Amino acid sequence: MKVRGRCPRLLEPMETGDGLLVRIPSRAVHLCAWAHMCRAARAYGNGTLEITRRGSLQIRGITTHSVSALVDELMRAGFEEPVGPIVLTTPWPDGDLASEIDTEAIAAELRADLRRQSWATSLHPKTSILIDAGSSLHFDAITFDLRLRFLKTDRGPMLTITLEGDDAPRPAQMVVSAADTVSVARDLLAFLSLRGSTVRIRDIVEMEGPEVFWSLLGDRVVAATTPPSRTRAQPIGLHRIGEQTYAVGIGIPLGSMSADAFERLIDTATKAQAESLRPWERHTALFSSFDRGAAEAFQAEAGRLGFIVRDDDPYRNITTCVGSPACSRGQMQTRELCQSIRRTSPSLLDGSLTIHVAGCDKACGKPTPTTITLTGMEDGCELTIGAQEDARREHWTALEVPKRLRQISEKIELMRRDHQQACDVLALAIEETRPISHEGK
Ligand code: SF4
Repeated sequence: MKVRGRCPRLLEPMETGDGLLVRIPSRAVHLCAWAHMCRAARAYGNGTLEITRRGSLQIRGITTHSVSALVDELMRAGFEEPVGPIVLTTPWPDGDLASEIDTEAIAAELRADLRRQSWATSLHPKTSILIDAGSSLHFDAITFDLRLRFLKTDRGPMLTITLEGDDAPRPAQMVVSAADTVSVARDLLAFLSLRGSTVRIRDIVEMEGPEVFWSLLGDRVVAATTPPSRTRAQPIGLHRIGEQTYAVGIGIPLGSMSADAFERLIDTATKAQAESLRPWERHTALFSSFDRGAAEAFQAEAGRLGFIVRDDDPYRNITTCVGSPACSRGQMQTRELCQSIRRTSPSLLDGSLTIHVAGCDKACGKPTPTTITLTGMEDGCELTIGAQEDARREHWTALEVPKRLRQISEKIELMRRDHQQACDVLALAIEETRPISHEGK
């Protein structure tokens, strides 16, 4: 079995500090299959599971001896290895679009089409496509090479085409009919493949402009009014998906959990008559479907099991990577630091700030923007406030880190007045807690 240096898949695991890692893309699969996956993760891995920012599920700690057995178990349970680029969908179209579109059918047709194309496996391994149902549960916080989003137009339901990198605001956007979607996506990707396996759509858009893509598509695309931007998706909580049916979004604390804990959650959902589960963006999982009472009971039980059940939970404002020792590059035990921030520095988690704890300067999975970034270094930790260009930086030793964070949190509590949030007094609180001898960079 081939081991990947990056972008792992089912049949191409990635070497990490705690063994091989297998990744399953975000897809709705029956709960029985996910329960089977939990047992396999325990038997053949170290029992640690993660749901990533892009909504993939990762199984950690697999050995070179156990990986084939794990993959066999997953295939038997119904998980599939995608060929070529990842094609994702968004679930449950809102309102009357629901009766006019079937995002899953289009995605399935595109996946099947790509399986027949010899060039599909030579695309950049991170190439990704989204078929977006136009719902409020969207993937707008995540980048895709190609996005196709349903839109009601005066020509009927169409899909807007967004190329990664072509993000200048425009009154009009290219659209394609549902019937031409697969051929248009295929032609765009075939053109991309001619540029080699290191090139993404963004690279071509930036160098040559988006017109080079539009010229391939002839009269299959036309311009239509750009749809309004959507409010931030809130995956955690109850989602009405039918007349009497609901889905429940659950947050995974720091994106990581044991296979035991996840299996207990799946078992609870099964007993509540739910059928499927989809790992979802920003470290969440969507369970469906329930009646209202069962959905509420499941949500309450998930909270008791230690999962996040409210989108405004303060712990949602802190993100991290696996860090040391699971990642061989890690200079810091990131999850432990996050837990310590939650226990000892609650003012930093009042919802006005976002914090990312990175095990090293690679900063995998760091959301943009982030207010505070703590980066593990060989000799301690770097604190960065704000964006790269005008960021303030300080260097702390490893011993200083929890103490400084606690002091800043306490200072914020003392300094803020009515209606002020942590973000309003953060800079001053850092200034006032800086040791006399410490020079910020
Ligand atoms: S940021 Fe560094 S420590 Fe964290 S997962 Fe990436 S490489 Fe590993």
